[in-house]
Amino acid sequence: MKDITFNEARHRVDELQELLWQYSHEYYVLDQPSVTDEEYDQLYYELVTLEEAFPELIHLDSPTQAVGGQLLEGFEKVAHSTPMMSLDDAFDIEELSAFDRRLQRLTASAYTYTAELKIDGLAINLRYEEGELVEAATRGDGTVGENVTENIKRIRMIPKKLTQAIDIEVRGEIYMPKRSFLELNQARELEGLEIFANPRNAAAGTIRNLDPSVTQRRKLSGFFYTIVQAEQYGVSSQDEALDLIEKLGLPVNQEHTQLQDIQDIVDYIEKYQEGRQALPYDIDGIVVKVNEFSIQNQAGFTARSPRWAVAYKFPAEEAETTVLSIDWTV
Ligand code: NAD
Repeated sequence: MKDITFNEARHRVDELQELLWQYSHEYYVLDQPSVTDEEYDQLYYELVTLEEAFPELIHLDSPTQAVGGQLLEGFEKVAHSTPMMSLDDAFDIEELSAFDRRLQRLTASAYTYTAELKIDGLAINLRYEEGELVEAATRGDGTVGENVTENIKRIRMIPKKLTQAIDIEVRGEIYMPKRSFLELNQARELEGLEIFANPRNAAAGTIRNLDPSVTQRRKLSGFFYTIVQAEQYGVSSQDEALDLIEKLGLPVNQEHTQLQDIQDIVDYIEKYQEGRQALPYDIDGIVVKVNEFSIQNQAGFTARSPRWAVAYKFPAEEAETTVLSIDWTV
């Protein structure tokens, strides 16, 4: 960062906070972003860098200290049993290596990684009682989400009944497949309606619509990757958790894998950075998680994210082409 005085930094921090909150409102509440994710991420990164250089400028209400969205009026509120957090980002290999070095300092024993695709959708928490789906909630501000149960029940891929009659909470991502997104936008264009900017916004706009028949008509899907308080179900690692989620009948993305070190992660990233156009859903990166829960527990959390996971975000120029290059004949 070039030399900058405290007053200049303070001015820019205020400016960035205001801009980022405005963009967050457009993105999370209105489901109508006015800037790309890459533009948002760049400004966010600038704010993080300034706050690191001038820690006195970190306010509790800074976007860097909070998880995403404000709640929409019209939905009942649901307090999450444990916070639904964000993820720290990495934009290059050096940042991934720094994440790995930090973990080595925080933890005493050896660990492995699980890598998963970062599904570009809307985070959701599903609560099952005796195997029956009783509640679905959005992430909201991380502590309190919106009750969207009636909408989620209308997604075919989401089981209303698990294969076992247990009480459990699972978390994952609701997304709109690329093909459904294109069909939806085509239909909206014909009807003279505003089109959605991308599948993520279409999925979020659908789930946060007060009329459940809208979800019924639009073809959404989901992938699940987290069990809340997973250890009470006898699992001790992320890959075991994914196995259990799948056994319970919930959709799990099959591209996840276990990796040993940064070089393995780099190979995995390269594979999907090149191959993601062919996937039937959008991804905006790769999520790398420490596999062993015992090590996750040692690493702990910051105010907004786990210290044992990181989201590697794909570079901007690739992101622009994702939706545009779909093969209509598939
Ligand atoms: P994030 O998107 O960087 O990552 C956290 C989220 O990733 C989790 O909450 C979860 O929902 C999701 N996820 C997908 N696959 C996952 C997996 N396999 N394992 C774990 N989590 C997985 O963070 P965020 O707080 O959700 O959103 C911030 C991002 O949203 C920004 O980086 C930006 O790209 C975008 N954003 C854009 C605008 C805009 O105006 N364009 C505004 C605000 C935010």
